[in-house]
Amino acid sequence: MITGLVIKSTGNLFLVELPGGPVIPCGIKGKFRIRGIRATNPVAVGDRVRLEWDGSDAPGIIVGIEERKNYIIRKASNLSREYQLLASNVDAAWLMVSLVMPRTLTAFMDRFLVSSEAYRIPAVILFNKIDLDGRAEMEELEALERVYSRAGYPCRRLSLKLGNGLEEVRRDMAGKVIVVAGNSGVGKSTLISTLDPAIQLRTEEVSESNQSGRHTTTFSQMYHLKGDIRVIDTPGIRGFGTIDIRREELFHFFPEIFRASAGCRYHNCLHLNEPGCAVKSAVEDGSISESRYLNYLLLLEEEEAKYR
Ligand code: GDP
Ligand code: ZN
Repeated sequence: MITGLVIKSTGNLFLVELPGGPVIPCGIKGKFRIRGIRATNPVAVGDRVRLEWDGSDAPGIIVGIEERKNYIIRKASNLSREYQLLASNVDAAWLMVSLVMPRTLTAFMDRFLVSSEAYRIPAVILFNKIDLDGRAEMEELEALERVYSRAGYPCRRLSLKLGNGLEEVRRDMAGKVIVVAGNSGVGKSTLISTLDPAIQLRTEEVSESNQSGRHTTTFSQMYHLKGDIRVIDTPGIRGFGTIDIRREELFHFFPEIFRASAGCRYHNCLHLNEPGCAVKSAVEDGSISESRYLNYLLLLEEEEAKYR
């Protein structure tokens, strides 16, 4: 049996990379189901698959999928109960952040980090454009690094303009399958083309908008960059925050809040105003950051609003 890695999916046709590098087109045979969700597409970029292929010019056939260690999904449409599988077996999600031009808000960061926790994808924070940071921003950067490394997220500094921090980032990404996310304009495409000038990612703006009359299909694709870095370009990364999370479970996805909650008097504490709440005391004594806590409350509100 041949095995391979799905690097592109367009409906029912897939591109599969075989061991050693050759890429062949493949169809699928049979039905593949995912426990618990209704998916519009059976096979995702990142899937490790078993193939039948006779070595000829004819396409191969995917006959099996190895168990996924994680996957990213999004709703097929707003009202739908069906999901589109965007990517699987992702080793890390790099959240690219900039403090100026544009300014990334902590609400954006925390929303993304909650999703990465829910998907069980380790997140790394990349503070880019540090060449633009003045004194005030440097202080802010240090404060953010303290907050997020305490929560368990590795933080890296980068200036793509000056090349500062690039070697460390390259080393951390080597050998991994990665999605790179962040506000528009933070430097995601610049990062990819700096790591490997041969790779041109489409931009999110084009892939997600029809306003300009452009209609780009929104399938995911995996790129193999120099230095053994694999990047998944997925249109749904902005919808990374739309997974449904039960209100009572939201705090599980804020690692430092979850840890502190072990000390709450009530096991079903939502850390709002309950007596004996260890999370609130931690916020008061500064061991949990106020902004993380406020963003927790904000997301809690949103979850509630969904069901009203
Ligand atoms: P994306 O929307 O996240 O893909 O952002 P781009 O890669 O298109 O970058 C947006 C702009 O920021 C471009 O003009 C880049 O040249 C610029 N840029 C990227 N990285 C840096 C950096 O480290 N410092 C500065 N000053 N500009 C940067
Ligand atoms: Zn509590």
